[in-house]
Amino acid sequence: MSQTRVLLDETEIPTHWYNVAADLKNPPAPPLGPDGQPVTPDKMLAIFPGPVLEQEMSAERWIPIPEEVRQVYALWRPSPLCRATRLEQVLGTPAKIFYKYEGVSPAGSHKPNSAVPQAWLNKIAGTKRLVTETGAGQWGSSLSFAGQMFGLPVRVYMVKVSYEQKPYRRLMMQTWGGEVLASPTNLTKSGRDALAQDPNNPGSLGLAISEAVEEVVNTPGSKYALGSVLNHVILHQTIIGLEAKKQFEKIGLYPDMIFAPCGGGSNFGGAAFPFLADKAAGDKRANNLRCVAVEPTSCPTLTKGVYAYDFGDATGYTPLMKMYTLGHDFMPPGIHAGGLRYHGDSPLVSQLFNEKLIEAVAVPQVATFEAGVMFARAEGIIPAPESCHGIRACIDEALRCKQTGEPKTLFFNLSGHGHFDMTAFESYLGGKLTDFDYPAEAIQASLEHLPKVG
Ligand SMILES: *Cc1c(COP(=O)(O)O)cnc(C)c1O
Repeated sequence: MSQTRVLLDETEIPTHWYNVAADLKNPPAPPLGPDGQPVTPDKMLAIFPGPVLEQEMSAERWIPIPEEVRQVYALWRPSPLCRATRLEQVLGTPAKIFYKYEGVSPAGSHKPNSAVPQAWLNKIAGTKRLVTETGAGQWGSSLSFAGQMFGLPVRVYMVKVSYEQKPYRRLMMQTWGGEVLASPTNLTKSGRDALAQDPNNPGSLGLAISEAVEEVVNTPGSKYALGSVLNHVILHQTIIGLEAKKQFEKIGLYPDMIFAPCGGGSNFGGAAFPFLADKAAGDKRANNLRCVAVEPTSCPTLTKGVYAYDFGDATGYTPLMKMYTLGHDFMPPGIHAGGLRYHGDSPLVSQLFNEKLIEAVAVPQVATFEAGVMFARAEGIIPAPESCHGIRACIDEALRCKQTGEPKTLFFNLSGHGHFDMTAFESYLGGKLTDFDYPAEAIQASLEHLPKVG
């Protein structure tokens, strides 16, 4: 029997995260305040605790994973590296296809990899409660679980349409003790203003971020936690790639190409950056390594955006970050991969893309579900709509290998399962799913509102 799953035991959970900032040729561009000057740490301390900020700004290559965090990671980590032999057969490709399955976490995605250390670092810093926002509920459920692990109360501002339409993720949060509010609320000024304009406001991620940050700034003992984009989140997610490296080592292989869906960039950076560390260290195996971030054609941040300073949220509440962006007020079409509907991208991922160390590709919605269903029928696991993007790009490469006869080793990150997204599969299976045109005009209009810097 050929090997299907490459497993590690819990003593092999990595002891350090990898910080790609240590290997950048150019220093990262600092976040800027409203005055155009770099944001001072004391301003950031109003919303993030010291130990998180320390990681956010660190230039150390290896950062120790606290023992308490490894202990919680051990509830589901190390996650399996699997060979998709049956998918290879269906495709008739000479390529070897491997995937890392992050759906084994309690919340069903990679997001607890960062929620757990964020909760712990807040705990040791004396934070009394965490406040965050969530769109469809992946991040809110991950943080509710993580807070429960360390006895830290969690409040989640959940976008109202999702609160009403996606009761299961809300119930997961509540089961883990999280307090869930439908945003906009009347507890914050941002929420009250939005409701005054439109009492039936369905909410948006940008508005929910504004509510969470506003509450934290005005409530001593509270801190804010973000599920993607920032440097410390990417750092925590490198646990994915670091484990995968050990697993590839066990079977004597090394990937030629790495694929992952890219929303804010955390699971992509987490899977790919540890392999780029090999490249930076001059490891010959990584000489020709290609890392591909996969995004939706309807929200094509890396492939069609501009590299500029922009706000992280829709309302202009956060510091300015240098990143690929479609404009902070760009409202992406309502695709099912909610986790990929973000106007910007991680500054680290953006910088590596700008320096041509990584690549990006955009794929249309229907083709992603086609790939996801093909994967589910071959390998059993039903992928999250976000994860279907990485699968699509990997399958496309496997089909190219079939044409050229190249036996490449392909690796994709299966960022989560799709058990709470079955209505999206219902649309696809019923032939009701459509592609959105590339929203060129909306992006152009939004890019005209980029903040002027320098
Ligand atoms: C949130 C999410 C993503 C996108 O976020 P990144 O920060 O880009 O990783 C991808 N897949 C799943 C399953 C998610 O929940």
